[in-house]
Amino acid sequence: MKLPTKTPVSETLLALVGRSVNDIDTPALVVDIDAMTRNIARMAEFARKHNVRWRPHAKMHKSSALARLQMQAGAIGVCVQKTSEAEAMVAGGVNDIYISNEVIAPSKLARVAALAHMVSAEGCKLAIAVDSLEGVERLAAAMSVARSQHTGNSAVIDVFVELDVGQGRCGLPPGPAAVALVHEIRKHPALRFAGLQAYHGKAQHLRTPKERRDTIAVVVEDVLHTRKLIETEGVPVELITGAGTGSMVCEAASGLYGELQAGSFMFMDADYAANERDPAQPQFEHALFVKTQVMSSHLTHAVCDAGHKSHAIDSGMPRVVAFDPDAELDYSNGGDEHGILRPAGGSQRVPSIGRFLWLIPGHCDPTVNLYDVMIGVTGGLKNGVVDKIIRVDARGAAT
Ligand code: PLP
Ligand code: MN
Repeated sequence: MKLPTKTPVSETLLALVGRSVNDIDTPALVVDIDAMTRNIARMAEFARKHNVRWRPHAKMHKSSALARLQMQAGAIGVCVQKTSEAEAMVAGGVNDIYISNEVIAPSKLARVAALAHMVSAEGCKLAIAVDSLEGVERLAAAMSVARSQHTGNSAVIDVFVELDVGQGRCGLPPGPAAVALVHEIRKHPALRFAGLQAYHGKAQHLRTPKERRDTIAVVVEDVLHTRKLIETEGVPVELITGAGTGSMVCEAASGLYGELQAGSFMFMDADYAANERDPAQPQFEHALFVKTQVMSSHLTHAVCDAGHKSHAIDSGMPRVVAFDPDAELDYSNGGDEHGILRPAGGSQRVPSIGRFLWLIPGHCDPTVNLYDVMIGVTGGLKNGVVDKIIRVDARGAAT
């Protein structure tokens, strides 16, 4: 049997530009461009007011186009977590990238070193974090091989020593071990000690501002102490970098951090919405949604076409946007391709077949990673139009 030739997905999506939000097929990842733009402006203003740089984490959106947009709004550059993300950012024209993570595999370090040489030849910057002697030696070896392959170009890579400031993930304990690693870095001419990486992931979703403030107060003391130890040995610590959307007001007010790495502020998610907002925190809005459609409807519940292949559920179920307060819905997991919707908040109304609904994902970063593109809408979710198709060009790759 000969099937009709399929229109490539990219063409179908591009044809959407200028059309109504109602024409977006489901499930789809939709960005409210107006809300996103306001979030970016609020972040830029916050950083300006506190005299800190912002280097948003691009692992969240995985899009070089959005990274460039953030930089146009004043971001100094972006963070990434992986070698492949750094490569995608460079390919997409982003010229200041920090891999805020440890890279250990020689095959990846060869790519990092090649990238460092490539970008430095064009006046761009690449930096990376380390937390071990082994990591420093492997990075230095990779830089030296890359140097021999790029004759006439002796690139230097900025290196941050990562401290474990309480998350119990990567990083050396604050104190003398970090000082020793700084000296190791300084033995290698292709590595430049650039400062300290001090991000506390677990602090981000502590629910009350007081819990977050108390936690970061301890972090600040530990980092301050470590900085003093390093500087006592005559080595300047140029920059302390870290902070996420949940705790950034604390790092910004510390007088210690020079750079904020928050990423989620641009899209927000249901997990961040569950945080009690610190009065000092800008009012960030939800800008990321999964559009879904009801495919089956019953007396007690309806079923939509967004299951956990449409959004990440590691931080809980999505929230259903209730345009109509009398039609509140609760979402529960119905499997890979199904979501179960039940009336909530005193409502009895079950949505009918064909109805479009909007979900706020529990966790923005891994949700974006499920999609090739985000559909950018202006004019709101009810009556807006498709403004642009945003490629998630750093998605997926395991490396
Ligand atoms: N910096 C690092 C090292 C991270 O791992 C993350 C997120 O996990 C962030 C910054 C950004 O945090 P958020 O997206 O919660 O603002
Ligand atoms: Mn996250």
